[in-house]
Amino acid sequence: MEKLRILVIGAHPDDNDFKCGGIALKYIKAGHRVRFVSVTDGSAGHHVMGKEEIAVRRKKETEEVARITGIEYDVWDIPDGCVVATLENRMRMVRYIREYNPDIIFTHRTIDYHADHRNVAMLVQDSAYMLIVPNFCPDAPAMKKNPVIMFTSDRFINPPFVPDVVIPTDDVIDEKFAMKNCHVSQVYEWLPFTNGVLDRVPKDTDERLAWLRRPLVPRNGKVLKEKDLNVPLESNTSEYREAGDAVRYRKKLAERYGKKVAKQTLFAEAFQLSEYGSKLTKDNIDKLFPF
Ligand SMILES: [Zn+2]
Repeated sequence: MEKLRILVIGAHPDDNDFKCGGIALKYIKAGHRVRFVSVTDGSAGHHVMGKEEIAVRRKKETEEVARITGIEYDVWDIPDGCVVATLENRMRMVRYIREYNPDIIFTHRTIDYHADHRNVAMLVQDSAYMLIVPNFCPDAPAMKKNPVIMFTSDRFINPPFVPDVVIPTDDVIDEKFAMKNCHVSQVYEWLPFTNGVLDRVPKDTDERLAWLRRPLVPRNGKVLKEKDLNVPLESNTSEYREAGDAVRYRKKLAERYGKKVAKQTLFAEAFQLSEYGSKLTKDNIDKLFPF
């Protein structure tokens, strides 16, 4: 088996886990190499801790994810909220991607809501073709071939997200929640604070993980429809968040896995091809998404 090199490039030290945690775990289990990078240090979003203190803590949280999953996790030093798609950052991105030499890159769409997400996405798009151009950053050897670049899913509609690949994540959903559970300062502090539910986060570590998953999606064979997703969520994540891509893109699941599996699938992650990387073809799609 050819070992794939997967690179997930997100803006903050939890974006990759939320959007690609399931597929990353599947790659790892299949013997491939996965690296996450957070382009910012995550130092902005906290209601109590100052910038330096929270940056150190967020880094430790990514190290815990790496420890429990086998995913490599880099965090760059750009302050949270301050990513700009400058030439300097483009060159840094090109060198970084070339050094790792990935087969696939996953990143945000350029219309995502957060300026950091958009600028990270822009940096990846700006780097895409330059990766193979030898006289651009000649100190880092150019890649022989552009990687395939996939956008992670979001709910913005101008233009809408249209998935090319949808992968069931039922088999890794417990481990995906374990990854989210590592981001304590986010999922049990900052996000509940922004949602006004900080006082409802359980103190006990097992109880709070159970709280993070609630409400749970039904396991009684009911096939969820899009209208069923409108349940009130207390935390920013719940099993319903993980079910969204499976419900919305069930037709796409059926194309790849058949109607029966598509109906039984509770959780999924969806990805859209960027036109600036290598193409997805009948020949390479099953090699790059071997699940
Ligand atoms: Zn983010």
